[in-house]
Amino acid sequence: MFKRVMIANRGEIALRVLRACRDLDVDTVVACSDADADSLPVQLAGRSVCVGPARAADSYLNGDAILTAAIATGCDAVHPGYGFLSENADFADRCAENGLKFIGPSGDVIRRMGNKAAARTLMQSVGVPVVPGSDGPVRDAAEAGEVADAIGYPVLIKAAAGGGGRGMRRAFTPRELEEKFEEARSEAVANFGDGEMYLEKLILSPRHIEFQILADQQGNIIQLGERDCSIQRKNQKLIEESPSKALTPELRAEMGAAAVRAARAAGYENAGTVEFVLDGEGHFYFIEMNTRIQVEHPVTELVTGMDLVREQLRIAAGLPLSRRQEEIVLTGHAIECRINAEDPARQFAPCPGRVEFLHLPGGPGVRVDTALFAGYELPPYYDSLCAKVDVHAPTRLEAVRKMRRALEELMIEGFSTNATLAHQIMYHPDFVKGNIDTGFLEKNMDTLLKWCDAAEEENL
Ligand code: ADP
Repeated sequence: MFKRVMIANRGEIALRVLRACRDLDVDTVVACSDADADSLPVQLAGRSVCVGPARAADSYLNGDAILTAAIATGCDAVHPGYGFLSENADFADRCAENGLKFIGPSGDVIRRMGNKAAARTLMQSVGVPVVPGSDGPVRDAAEAGEVADAIGYPVLIKAAAGGGGRGMRRAFTPRELEEKFEEARSEAVANFGDGEMYLEKLILSPRHIEFQILADQQGNIIQLGERDCSIQRKNQKLIEESPSKALTPELRAEMGAAAVRAARAAGYENAGTVEFVLDGEGHFYFIEMNTRIQVEHPVTELVTGMDLVREQLRIAAGLPLSRRQEEIVLTGHAIECRINAEDPARQFAPCPGRVEFLHLPGGPGVRVDTALFAGYELPPYYDSLCAKVDVHAPTRLEAVRKMRRALEELMIEGFSTNATLAHQIMYHPDFVKGNIDTGFLEKNMDTLLKWCDAAEEENL
């Protein structure tokens, strides 16, 4: 096992990694920005190093500063968390060149999966179904138009380097395609510095189903079941659960086997996620592979009883997976709500601020991952995710009820969050029945926001 791990991240995921290290008796050094000097992970870590000013580009994305700090503090590995440098192939390479183990796959694998148009082609070659679309990238709107004519409208214009739902536009007509193509490309260039675009058929009202996989250095690959992440706003996940109501044991086995095949084709090592969309007829299609730990990993931990970050550390240290595929049993049902510091009533504008009062839910089957504490000043520079509330119960309905009461107990005072919205979703008849798809939030947002208003008036 490693002697000392540099945690190159912040917030709840830095704390999550720190906890896994401490459970394994591994020393930690947290790399932080100026704005995070008093953060909880910094206070709890063995040591911390300031790697730059608040702006992420100068600190959490500053590979040079992070490598220098890791070497100077005698670290032998770097855990990148999610976001920031976690899917930066060059950074992974540079860790390796400097004798530091990057806790994740190699730079080559990250590169291979990071171009989503190329990843599609690789998946097709090993018989993993992909959404009908372009063979690799399309040059311009005219070529996109030809592909769209062949596969049929509606289509989705996507950025090969895309992430976080950016650089993506729907087009229902040739005219819309022409209009939106450049818009999507500009967004991709602005966000990823890469304007390579490709085309997929737009699957109407799909579910987002992803499989967690683990792959060790000995060549063992297992899948830990699925997460249904269909509750999304602007292609960003808000609520995730495991297992999915839409999967039969047969479909789960089939999709799980495809996910393992995908990981094997990629030459995968460490924890990863294979994402699919599932249409109403039970057809599933690969959309992308994420080569890191994901925000929503706790739902898988709850139903499998495995500690995924511990597995990441073990795998990176060269140890074999601690379980075989036959030993993976999904027990009960888990749901996660992402709590963001944002105001749903004001178009979800981020609203960081000082935590004036904090009460976190607890009791059987409730888990909260957060780096908040009373008196903490949530900095305005980063992602608005400030807590994850996870519940685990024997059945889905019991998990829904448990989430309702957990969110009732949760009190974050000092800034707005989307907690009331999440609470109202737990009462929506379609959610309660499990009749969800990626269009659920868009379709029901007005109703849900009205319910939120009413709930908040009642509480005044
Ligand atoms: P990103 O990397 O930006 O998150 P993804 O390819 O993972 O992009 O897609 C994000 C979301 O967009 C998915 O979860 C799904 O809801 C939706 N989506 C992606 N591809 C399709 C498709 N072909 N048809 C319908 N919805 C899609």
